[in-house]
Amino acid sequence: MSPGTDTWDVIVIGAGPAGLFAARALAGELSVLVLEEKARTGGAGAMTDGKLNLSPRIGLDLEELRITEEEAGARIARIDEAFLEHGADRTLYGVDKERIDLWLDRVSWVRHPTPKGDWDITLLPARQRHMGTDLAHRVVARMTESIAGDGVSFSLRTKVEEITLRKSGGPFLVRTSKGRFASRYLVAAPGREGAYWFREVARSLGARTRWGAIDIGCRVEVALPVYGEITQVLYDPKFLFVTPSHGDRTRTFCTNPGGRVRVEIRNGCRLVNGDALKRRKTPCTNFAILNTVSMTEPLQDTTEMGRKVMEFANFWGGGDSLVVQRWGDLTAGRRSKAETFHSAALGYDKMTPTLPPGRGVTPGDISFAYPGRIVDNLRESLLLLSRVIPGVAHPSTTVYVPEIKFYDTKYDTDRHLETNVPNLFVAGDGVGKSRGIVGAALNGMLAAEGILRKEGKA
Ligand SMILES: Cc1cc2nc3c(=O)[nH]c(=O)nc-3n(C[C@H](O)[C@H](O)[C@H](O)COP(=O)(O)OP(=O)(O)OC[C@H]3O[C@@H](n4cnc5c(N)ncnc54)[C@H](O)[C@@H]3O)c2cc1C
Repeated sequence: MSPGTDTWDVIVIGAGPAGLFAARALAGELSVLVLEEKARTGGAGAMTDGKLNLSPRIGLDLEELRITEEEAGARIARIDEAFLEHGADRTLYGVDKERIDLWLDRVSWVRHPTPKGDWDITLLPARQRHMGTDLAHRVVARMTESIAGDGVSFSLRTKVEEITLRKSGGPFLVRTSKGRFASRYLVAAPGREGAYWFREVARSLGARTRWGAIDIGCRVEVALPVYGEITQVLYDPKFLFVTPSHGDRTRTFCTNPGGRVRVEIRNGCRLVNGDALKRRKTPCTNFAILNTVSMTEPLQDTTEMGRKVMEFANFWGGGDSLVVQRWGDLTAGRRSKAETFHSAALGYDKMTPTLPPGRGVTPGDISFAYPGRIVDNLRESLLLLSRVIPGVAHPSTTVYVPEIKFYDTKYDTDRHLETNVPNLFVAGDGVGKSRGIVGAALNGMLAAEGILRKEGKA
């Protein structure tokens, strides 16, 4: 190590929920430095929207993490307490048993058994909170302050560029945009944004990785009243579908009542996403329908597949745009056009989308922009959903693509997320171990505990 290198017990890469909860659990026990390339903590959009899914069956792969539902539940309760302690809204959704039972009953009358032995529609009730993009920032800022108050150092606007290892077991030498650091342990929590950069680094250190599934889907936007009855009870209702034509599994994801459809830039391409503010609501609700795609021979590189789908969808949008289509046009087999996008004659005046055609958003035909099987699955999922909530299949419903969740690189780890490279821990969405804020936070806790155990402190 060169003289003057700043040395720590633990370096955490990334100040998203995974990195923050790792740092929080290590605070006061070991010297900890969090390196974050952005100017603020909070990760993907400072915990944009901030729906906290408090069910162990959502946003986590218990098998991948090798923990039981009970253990996950207990940890999630601690994560929830931490958010509340720092000012998260106390309203809890998914607890009104009587009204949830009514929804489950409604589903039971319209679902059918599939050849796979399960149902074509399942509703998965879950307890949830909603912080809102506007208030989540404050909660994160308070949490960061208290972690720093407990002795953790944060270096913002600090991009990690390279990690090397002089010998097995450390120390790790970390080169950043602000100089060099060294540590005995490393917790890598780079999120989806940093996933591919870190994958190359991890492989160069000798970490074993494999391809996992990727979620490819669309964002659906409906008028607020269409979905209002259910979102009052279940803020982000989780419907699981088995599609009739292909028997594939799809699900609803990331519902934003009174929310906005948003553009997410990734590797120079446009993806669609959604969020909601706590204090200012729109007359629309948006949610994703995601199709989980796994690949075997001859191609297993789900990352490359996702990238190609994303690029082609943008290409179809005119080079660098999302494609947006009215459900009425999609079912009639015609493209959407700017001239008819708000046509009263077609029923499109019933809902004005929050991300209407304009710069970066092209009215078109998603069946040209997306792989056929995925389009079939998305259409059939919306039709299945319309059995429970009929208004979702109104012609004015608006569908945007591409929505792709890149959490497809998996790492071989032990149950505390230590990789086969001694003292290298991984956590969060970017390493395929979670799919949401609470899951990522739980990962961070697990990694921190792994380090404390090795130090004889847990
Ligand atoms: C618009 C939007 C809305 C969402 N809404 C919800 C929601 O309501 N509920 C929910 O549960 N989830 C939601 N998510 C997903 C959620 O944000 C993620 O699941 C979660 O943030 C993952 O946490 P993480 O810590 O693994 O990664 P991230 O939050 O992505 O944090 C990783 C951090 O690492 C930093 N980083 C990466 N590479 C480097 C590097 N080389 N050097 C230094 N720093 C680096 C990044 O800048 C980032 O801050 C939403 C995401 C988006 C984009």
